[in-house]
Amino acid sequence: MNRKYRKVIIAGNWKMNKLATDAKPFVEELRAAMPKDKTCETVLCVPFPIIPAMARAMRDSRIAYGAQDVSEHASGAYTGEVSAAMLANLKVKYCIVGHSERRQYHGETDSAVNVKAKALLDEGVTPIICVGESLEQREKELTSEFVAYQVKAALAGMDAKTVKRCVIAYEPIWAIGTGRTASAEQAQEVCHEIRGVIRELYDARIARAVSILYGGSMNAKNCAELLAQPDIDGGLIGGASLKTEDFAKIISATEEE
Ligand code: PEP
Repeated sequence: MNRKYRKVIIAGNWKMNKLATDAKPFVEELRAAMPKDKTCETVLCVPFPIIPAMARAMRDSRIAYGAQDVSEHASGAYTGEVSAAMLANLKVKYCIVGHSERRQYHGETDSAVNVKAKALLDEGVTPIICVGESLEQREKELTSEFVAYQVKAALAGMDAKTVKRCVIAYEPIWAIGTGRTASAEQAQEVCHEIRGVIRELYDARIARAVSILYGGSMNAKNCAELLAQPDIDGGLIGGASLKTEDFAKIISATEEE
């Protein structure tokens, strides 16, 4: 982490779990368990139907809520879709785009990720852009090349000022929901490379300002080592964000430096 230049962010991804009625008790428990004077940005990205309940539950708290996907389209005949303007209207602060589960099960392409990120930025919502390699790509030593390609595709056509408002999450696919975490060295190496790609595309000042998160089986036990890495500015957390005790421990770990 490098608080001097970047925001430290702990973002939970509830995926398709929990109900709207869980929002209030969860937030109450989380607030009781997490440090009162926390300095990191804390976000819970929840399913669309839970957003209004989250907004009510988080009133007067220092926790933000987010979404997990957004439509590429602004409005119109796109049954089942949710636009960036609809999210902004609900005061959603962050939205995940390009999560590997959406790429894998819903055919989300790199160009869709780029369009979605821009749609969110236009509405003042911060995209959390997920990138990461498969196990096969890692084993074939294609990680650097593939992740660089994904980052460049996601940021295509964005000017420097816009890119500063993006968050990147490095999520190796083989570590998501598997209990198999990237080692701190592996995660740091790729996050450092991602910063290098941003430096190459823009400049050192912009690269220094973008928060890069690690995601993939981060939990209360392994978070401290991952968060201690200079280019890892927080976490995108699936399983461990469903339990207040675990999520609070990860938030607390950002305060221990
Ligand atoms: C995720 O869904 O983005 C994620 C990292 O999941 P998990 O923490 O469960 O691996």
